[in-house]
Amino acid sequence: MQLKNIGIVGWRGMVGQVLMERMQAENDFSLGEFTLFSASATGRSVSGKMYGRDFGKILDASDLNALKKMDVILTCQGGDYTKQYYPMLKREGWRGFWIDAASALRMEKEATIILDPVNMHVIKSALQRGETTFVGGNCTVSLMLMAIQGLFKANLVEWISTMTYQAASGAGAKNMEELVAQYDCVGRGLQKNLNVAQSALELEKKVTGIIRSEELPHEHFGHPLAYSLLPWIDSEYEMGQSREEWKGFSETNKILQTTKPIPVDGTCVRVGVLRCHSQGLTIKLNQNLPLSEIEGMLREANPWVKLVPNKKDLTLAELTPAAISGTLTLGLGRVRKMRLGDSFLNAFTSGDQLLWGAAEPLRRMLRILFE
Ligand code: NAP
Repeated sequence: MQLKNIGIVGWRGMVGQVLMERMQAENDFSLGEFTLFSASATGRSVSGKMYGRDFGKILDASDLNALKKMDVILTCQGGDYTKQYYPMLKREGWRGFWIDAASALRMEKEATIILDPVNMHVIKSALQRGETTFVGGNCTVSLMLMAIQGLFKANLVEWISTMTYQAASGAGAKNMEELVAQYDCVGRGLQKNLNVAQSALELEKKVTGIIRSEELPHEHFGHPLAYSLLPWIDSEYEMGQSREEWKGFSETNKILQTTKPIPVDGTCVRVGVLRCHSQGLTIKLNQNLPLSEIEGMLREANPWVKLVPNKKDLTLAELTPAAISGTLTLGLGRVRKMRLGDSFLNAFTSGDQLLWGAAEPLRRMLRILFE
């Protein structure tokens, strides 16, 4: 099949904007003819200056005839869009490649979850079978797999418990804006009554009062995230898990195509961070190996993982969302044997969920198709 026309849906969102930046940086727009689609901003012409290219008119993302002309549709519009338009296109006999950031199709049989540094063999065999549906993994799962890839490569993992600290932008552009608006609301509230807070305790009471009040913007998160955290992400699933927590087990094992599933479980928490998901990991190894050997495997697993020595100054300087946001680096540190036993490993990882957790596997999949 000759690939030429590529449609991008959802380029205005959080993932979409990062995707467009990365595609421009990697010269991916030279691969073919690109058309932009939008569900809410159609009709206007895009100036030649956007992402260094003239994309012409933005087309309506519900225009099936226009979508059908695409050989590849790359979408980061969201799950509702996927659920509506993917089956419609299939029913109409469209046979192009569908590359998606949303979770809607991930566990479908026809879909391959893409994270090529980890599962290129799975992607290649899907292509050989003539599969055309490729979906990026859940951001925390992809970041965890990339960060401790060395342990999976060596078949050392018996189980993992992962406690997450997930950024506001993981929930989309409007949520990220709401977090900033919440901090701003507190800042403005304090400005009005600066003389009221004469001690640290009074300051705390004032801030807590504002975040509990109706004046705090909360349309998208539903609750205060600024100066707080939210220990539930996504909908309720089974066995008391959130859907985000369920994805840890189901997607890890689908991405790795394990024959004996590796248990993965933990608590997923939204924190008042703008960008970058972090995770505290407890890893049960199936062997007691020296720490230096384990560190070597982790360090060598892929070009993006950066093993930070387990030292306070380096950890605080290099293993934080502030240090890692906007980079392809997968920070990994706090690696040590635990008091729980010699085969229990502690680790902490921080990675940009908009890059390796979303946009990067999508643009790399496009390259794989063309190569
Ligand atoms: P988002 O920021 O909410 O954007 C999704 C779409 O909303 C946009 O592409 C845009 O589509 C529309 N939109 C409407 N008003 C907008 C506005 N004011 N600003 C920007 N966009 C607006 O969602 P997202 O975080 O990019 O996520 C997209 C998909 O990727 C979701 O399925 C999500 O679960 C998945 N994902 C997200 C992340 C992450 O870290 N955010 C990571 C992995 C996977 P139209 O132009 O078509 O209206």
